Amino acid sequence: MATCYVLFGSNLGEKDRIFMQACLLINNRCGRIVGLSAAYASEPWGFEAEEWFLNRVIVLETDLAPEALLHELLAIERELGRVRHPEVQGYSSRTADLDILYYDDRIIQAEALTVPHPRLHLRRFALVPMCDVAPELVHPVLQRTQAELLQRCHDDSVVRKIAETNVGK
Ligand code: ADP
Ligand code: MG
Repeated sequence: MATCYVLFGSNLGEKDRIFMQACLLINNRCGRIVGLSAAYASEPWGFEAEEWFLNRVIVLETDLAPEALLHELLAIERELGRVRHPEVQGYSSRTADLDILYYDDRIIQAEALTVPHPRLHLRRFALVPMCDVAPELVHPVLQRTQAELLQRCHDDSVVRKIAETNVGK
């Protein structure tokens, strides 16, 4: 059994409902959700978009191997209506993005999967919700806690807590 931290992001459609749906599917197919961060509204990062993102971290206990978990999460993204636009370079709007931030303290560098997520320490929208659920968790490569990473993060984009919703557990 591994403990994973998965970052949900959405900036299209009914974000709360999509989040709830994502939790149901993850709970059914990936393992057991044992924790959720608060909900955050995040300024779009790295591209221009009208809609802000809903970001939340999901704490998941799973028996799936890392690649199998990624496979399942990508399938769930597709089911939630995300359409990939390979012709668009870089970032684009999406109904659901599910990124594996951590998988226990494993360090993985495969073609389709890098864990810890290679950009999480650069992004307030990942670190702020991580600090809700596991402020003392140590990044296995950078050897710093989430709280330390957040303190040192140079990202100055806005990440605002929004009202708690009774979603998930
Ligand atoms: P991003 O999440 O960086 O905005 P995508 O969601 O489009 O971009 O991810 C593209 C690919 O990133 C996925 O198909 C997956 O193979 C790869 N990937 C590598 N590491 C991870 C990770 N830790 N979590 C999720 N996807 C990852
Ligand atoms: Mg992703």
